[in-house]
Amino acid sequence: MRRSDRPPSTLVPVGGELMDGFGRVHRDLRISVTDRCNFRCRYCMPAEGLEWLPRDGLLSFEEISRVASLVVERFGIRSIRLTGGEPTVRAKLPDLVRLLSPLPVDLALTTNGATLRLLAAELAEAGLGRINVSLDSLRRDRFEELTLRDGLARVLDGIEAALAAGLSPVKVNVVVMRGVNDDELVDFARFGRELGVTVRFIEFMPLDADEAWSEAAVVSQEEILATIGAVYPLEPPARSNAPATRFRYMDGGGEIGVVASVTQSFCDSCDRIRLTADGQFRNCLFATKEFDLRGLLRSGASDDEVADLVERAVAAKWAGHGIGRVDFIRPARSMSQIGG
Ligand code: SAM
Ligand code: SF4
Repeated sequence: MRRSDRPPSTLVPVGGELMDGFGRVHRDLRISVTDRCNFRCRYCMPAEGLEWLPRDGLLSFEEISRVASLVVERFGIRSIRLTGGEPTVRAKLPDLVRLLSPLPVDLALTTNGATLRLLAAELAEAGLGRINVSLDSLRRDRFEELTLRDGLARVLDGIEAALAAGLSPVKVNVVVMRGVNDDELVDFARFGRELGVTVRFIEFMPLDADEAWSEAAVVSQEEILATIGAVYPLEPPARSNAPATRFRYMDGGGEIGVVASVTQSFCDSCDRIRLTADGQFRNCLFATKEFDLRGLLRSGASDDEVADLVERAVAAKWAGHGIGRVDFIRPARSMSQIGG
């Protein structure tokens, strides 16, 4: 059965909720399935010299599925997003989707879209629900400069394939960087309106591989809204639905989202936990400490022991990342290694 045809979950978590010391309840698990990628986005991966994880260092689909089932059943996790690196370069990704799809969660994928023409229908059949495609330029030459691949046509075709396969909703994520692609805000807005997809504009975060990030490179939510709103007037949001705040076009032409992780951090309401491809559990994208779930899984640990590690990791979560503060520390791993 396709995900969109299913009734909503009525599962009652048996282990209680995953609450941290600040009262935040965690419902969203991001799982990275690989550190590898078929692109080399400048801000995410160095062009060369990256050492890949050894194959046996990656969690197997069975290990991922065990952790996912456990946190859903015990702690009421409601959404699972597969990411990477580029998740579609992990062999047999639809098999993992098939393992996870019986769980009563919103099952999503973040991808660069390059191979979606080949995979979208199988992913939809396997039970994938929503999909986010990352795309930072609509200009072929700039796209190539940014990703080191001449792949714009394939990504655009992949977005169409995702729509045709019935994946829903299909959203397009754009990381906005000053002097790089901030002159394409209106082009992206038009693109979303014409295709009937929501474009989500993301503030550039200090997680980049080339360390090009600076506060000056961040284009704020305010500026993004002013630029797009001058051409396509926008309504103020009915409610902020962190992390992305949604703004509707006044003429009924759809909506955009803005993820203002830097200028309006949503740490206060953060409900995310993460599992890296090598099985490290993280309580924050910017965490400087990881919890070794893989070691525990491979030592023959019981479900109670695995659940205990998850609870301890969540309990240790800090109040927020503090980007912009003098004591902010960049995580040692970039986004592709943590899982975006
Ligand atoms: N390869 C997939 C993709 O590109 O969608 C999934 C992994 S990627 C690391 C996930 C998301 O993180 C992408 O949308 C990417 O643009 C975003 N990202 C990477 N580095 C970032 C940064 N420094 N600031 C904001 N977003 C970033
Ligand atoms: Fe690959 Fe995604 Fe990173 Fe680009 S942003 S290099 S597509 S993992």
